Amino acid sequence: MKVIVINSGSSSIKYQLFEMTKETVLAKGIAEKIGENNSEIVLKISEKKQKIEKQYNKIENHKEALSEILKLLEEYKLIQDKKEITAIGHRLVHAGENYHSSVVITEDVLEKMTECNDLAPLHNPHNITGVRTTQELFPGTFQAGCFDTAFHQTMPDYAYIYPIDYSYYEKYKVRRYGFHGTSHMYVSKRASEILNKDYNSLKIITCHLGNGASVAAIKNGKSIDTSMGMTPLEGIMMGTRSGDIDPALVFFITEKDGEGLDGFNKMLNKNSGLKGVSGVSNDVRDLKKAIKSGNKRAELALNMFIYRLKKYIGSYAAAMGGVDVVVFTGGIGENNADIRKRAVENLEFMGIEIDDEINNATRGEEKIISKATSKAKVMLVPTDEELVIARETFRLYKENN
Ligand code: ADP
Repeated sequence: MKVIVINSGSSSIKYQLFEMTKETVLAKGIAEKIGENNSEIVLKISEKKQKIEKQYNKIENHKEALSEILKLLEEYKLIQDKKEITAIGHRLVHAGENYHSSVVITEDVLEKMTECNDLAPLHNPHNITGVRTTQELFPGTFQAGCFDTAFHQTMPDYAYIYPIDYSYYEKYKVRRYGFHGTSHMYVSKRASEILNKDYNSLKIITCHLGNGASVAAIKNGKSIDTSMGMTPLEGIMMGTRSGDIDPALVFFITEKDGEGLDGFNKMLNKNSGLKGVSGVSNDVRDLKKAIKSGNKRAELALNMFIYRLKKYIGSYAAAMGGVDVVVFTGGIGENNADIRKRAVENLEFMGIEIDDEINNATRGEEKIISKATSKAKVMLVPTDEELVIARETFRLYKENN
């Protein structure tokens, strides 16, 4: 049975085609610059290790993009016909307080998502466009979705309420929701499987370190806290986002700058974090090169990133009354041994001892990177959000058919 997973953004659609009996990825890729000039579709075929890049003058909209993707899948014999795709899984961002787990997509779900558009204006409307597009192109086909916020719905109220006037929660549902839930859930469960330990009796700290980055505290199989908040801006320092700052900076900087709130919002989201502090790039690879050639601000940015991450690891161990496993994942977590090492350095008092040799030799593979004597295990678990979405879609399909 074939399942396609769709991640629909403002001007892009990422996709992965799975054969679910063996859970293999047949193909994956992205349509980019939708609605702009010089649109492009990339198709990577797993079996042949082949990469096809097709250029277009302009792909007008998501429907056209997905139609082109389907044409390519047919042309390269990955499907005979779109009818061969039995179910569609969507990556969805914000469900507010509505859903705790993956859902079968209905009109009611879309209505509830629309109600959350205010909470995730950069993501939810485009997710909805993605669903509407697949509904048009695959009429009657089973559709399911996984929300980024769902896994964190188990947080207790004292973790998710902001210390501000409570009426804002009552009026507008202003509270912490958390994101990257699918990833935190997947890597924490995988860690327990690799360790052969009961997921429901572990204290796990998961560090999802990509361009967007967040940390989660997972106690006895439930997320009890996570670093992102009502929006993905809160928490640890990120590629271009600030993470936690003094809220009074809003007033100070907008008054000094005269750029207004829009300018400030843009600065916090697009020109802060590693990029803002270093003045070099949001990409750790570029920062490392700059550090080698003596760039002090690049060094400062990386030091800050690691320091702020370490503080979250410490605070989540406190929140859970200890820690059994620390997991690193995401582009930064999977590829940077030195960042992993420094994030848990000097935490022997918490029972954490990383093994430098194993850690250094490890890239993008599932591995325990702590010393045999370490009370808490430190692990590297590459994330696979699309696989979770495909599995959940397949599970819900079987339950409903
Ligand atoms: P996103 O949040 O966009 O999904 P990723 O999880 O792919 O991002 O992480 C992207 C980041 O991971 C890059 O900006 C870079 O900092 C880091 N990264 C990716 N590949 C490598 C690598 N080979 N070596 C070092 N850092 C890497």
